[in-house]
Amino acid sequence: MLQEHVPLHTYANYKIGGPARYFWRATTVKEIKEGLLLAKKLKAKVFILGGGTNLLIPDEGYSGFVVKPDLMMLTRRGNTVTAGAGILMFDLLNFTAKEKLSGLEWAGGLPGTLGGAIRGNAGAFGGEIKDTIVSVKSIDIKTGKVITRSRRACRFGYRASVFKEKKGREVIVEASFRLTPGDAKAIKKAIKAKIKYRLERHPMEYPNIGSMFKNVAVKDVPKSRYNELVYDVKTDPIPVIPTARLLIKANLRGKKIGGAMISLKHPNFIVNVNKASAKHVVALLELAKKTVKKKFSITLVEEVERL
Ligand SMILES: Cc1cc2nc3c(=O)[nH]c(=O)nc-3n(C[C@H](O)[C@H](O)[C@H](O)COP(=O)(O)OP(=O)(O)OC[C@H]3O[C@@H](n4cnc5c(N)ncnc54)[C@H](O)[C@@H]3O)c2cc1C
Repeated sequence: MLQEHVPLHTYANYKIGGPARYFWRATTVKEIKEGLLLAKKLKAKVFILGGGTNLLIPDEGYSGFVVKPDLMMLTRRGNTVTAGAGILMFDLLNFTAKEKLSGLEWAGGLPGTLGGAIRGNAGAFGGEIKDTIVSVKSIDIKTGKVITRSRRACRFGYRASVFKEKKGREVIVEASFRLTPGDAKAIKKAIKAKIKYRLERHPMEYPNIGSMFKNVAVKDVPKSRYNELVYDVKTDPIPVIPTARLLIKANLRGKKIGGAMISLKHPNFIVNVNKASAKHVVALLELAKKTVKKKFSITLVEEVERL
């Protein structure tokens, strides 16, 4: 059903953002196609909303048509699991543990939906969503055509995919994973360990949208700065300098603008400490970029999506 003037901050992990002119919740592929047709009729641009855990929504909201694909299908055939794009990673992982299938444990505690994770090739603890994917199904927003891609055709890279390259021209609707039979207890234990690590290190006490910037690939560090920064290299899964380290070295930890703050606990997070607006967050993002560029000649690249 079509809704109008829907406050988006209620769908955003950040609790920031103005209203969507149009809002369409779809629980089937048919309903997604109906929504896309309606958006065309209304001549409105389309945005796909997942769990809102990686998204900075402007204070003025969105003048177009937001589609929320709540596709919750979850099946197993042999060692292959097929899941709808709207399923929360938390629920997908619970399912694999129950089914004694191993391969997604690295994603323990990863917030958001499967669709969002595929678009950004989400990763943590050396794993990435691409590792066990067999195929991804999507819908072309303009033509309504269903496309099935192999993992190779998805062109996954570091926090990158063909869906990200296409800048929102497709709705991801489903993906299949090939997993390995394992022990339910061991799978659950591995997932719990990741959740525990995140609770200890991430500033979960405040609304946030995860890491604001990508870590910096070692190959992108200017040679003149290499010796000074090389001690901080980690594998993510390529060799990187954690952006959090750069922000600490640039004395930006704890820096506040309005209700937004560069986290003390994990400086690559900008937390909403007191009714922050998107403008406050953007001002901190720009300050971080400018300072790191000046101090280390490194260009920070945003990992979060701006609506
Ligand atoms: C506390 C915390 C920790 C985090 N840790 C990590 C981490 O370790 N690793 C990591 O990679 N990320 C991390 N993130 C970021 C975020 O959780 C992931 O990027 C997540 O995969 C985003 O999914 P989402 O459903 O919330 O997407 P959203 O935030 O809703 O959207 C993000 C982008 O994906 C697009 N999108 C969403 N669903 C679809 C779909 N079905 N079809 C097409 N496009 C779609 C949106 O249009 C948007 O461009 C973290 C976030 C938080 C808050």
